[in-house]
Amino acid sequence: MYIGTAGVPIGCKNCSSLDALKFLKDANLNALELEFVRGVKMGEENAKRIKNRAEDLDIRISSHAPYYINLASDDPQKLQRSLEHIKKSLYITNLAGGHITAIHMGYYQNLGKEETYRRMKNALESLVEFIEQHNIKTKMGPETAGKLSQFGRLQEILRLAEEVPYTEPVFDIAHLHATREYDFTKKDEYYRFFNDAPMDHYHFHFSEINYGEKGERNHLNVGETLEPNYKYFLEVLKELGIKATIVLETPDLEESAKKLLEYWKTL
Ligand SMILES: [Zn+2]
Repeated sequence: MYIGTAGVPIGCKNCSSLDALKFLKDANLNALELEFVRGVKMGEENAKRIKNRAEDLDIRISSHAPYYINLASDDPQKLQRSLEHIKKSLYITNLAGGHITAIHMGYYQNLGKEETYRRMKNALESLVEFIEQHNIKTKMGPETAGKLSQFGRLQEILRLAEEVPYTEPVFDIAHLHATREYDFTKKDEYYRFFNDAPMDHYHFHFSEINYGEKGERNHLNVGETLEPNYKYFLEVLKELGIKATIVLETPDLEESAKKLLEYWKTL
């Protein structure tokens, strides 16, 4: 089981991503998601250093692509820029030894679900050539979205992963709860989820979440509301013998990660 943080831990003051690896290791955490959410600013040399150190420390690397992405955009320039963000993310993440890049795919707008899906699929397919040219091992990771206006219900994400090469799902448990696709205050709902989405290895985002009729409002720390319930989550992971990476996207990052780790050790 890999448990870690979305970005540099808060307690790691003035740390680079490279420094963060040692900090995580000292806290017995073993995953880091590189946050490229405001643009990919990491250089190639730095990425290679992260790969080496992460391998030495046995820390699993992933990344999060920039937020400025809408792969269903009508505007060809916007679509092109979105694709460039993803290419850059994949390229640098691959150099950093990362397994997957989480992608917020964009919005339904007024297109209808099928047309949105078609555009999303075409967009990811258009990146296959780039991935093969550069021999990129990092997977494209379309993420289950938290707002109902955003593309990314579970079945859509699973279908993309099925139909597009080099694509694997990113499962944000809090988002699936906020859209009411699952009610993760109930343990049974985790069994239903794993039944609906069978995988060899899962890449999870986890947090608690504040939500309303339109879905996600904001992420909360673990232990604030138990929505979703982290104990049930870990219990079911354990019972089913599931292999997973869990990246904490809470305001307090490593504090929540440590809560998961502590409970995991008791199971
Ligand atoms: Zn995300």
